[in-house]
Amino acid sequence: MSNKSRKTKQKELLYKIISKQKRLFSAKNIYDLCKKNKIGFSTVYRFINSLVKKGVLHKFYCNEEALYSLSSKSHTHLICENCNSIFHLKEPEIKIDASHFKNDLNEFQICHIQIDMFGICKSCLNKQTLTISDKNEKSRV
Ligand SMILES: [Zn+2]
Ligand SMILES: [Zn+2]
Ligand SMILES: [Zn+2]
Repeated sequence: MSNKSRKTKQKELLYKIISKQKRLFSAKNIYDLCKKNKIGFSTVYRFINSLVKKGVLHKFYCNEEALYSLSSKSHTHLICENCNSIFHLKEPEIKIDASHFKNDLNEFQICHIQIDMFGICKSCLNKQTLTISDKNEKSRV
């Protein structure tokens, strides 16, 4: 009985901490925030995932790490194929018109969107132009 009420209190505290999060967070972030209350990592992890199932939290994968957000706003990565750097597209939010592939969705309900866009980053582009102009100069000599 006392064990059960302790668990309820833990969940209440976790919910309080989570509902204050303005940015994306990991289970480890929440665990660190409630460490002093002696809440185990598996309790934190399970509670977060129960909120994901309820649609309170939205799960994203950022550099192979699971991150959670209270907001279902789309999450977009710009990934450099040359140096593997990951950048985040902040604005605007990407919205997809699901009516385009309505038949394929087979009544699947879209909750939130994560997009990975691949290309070449600015610094790699600059390096590339440098090497090209270097070669040009050498061939001119
Ligand atoms: Zn979602
Ligand atoms: Zn990300
Ligand atoms: Zn790059």
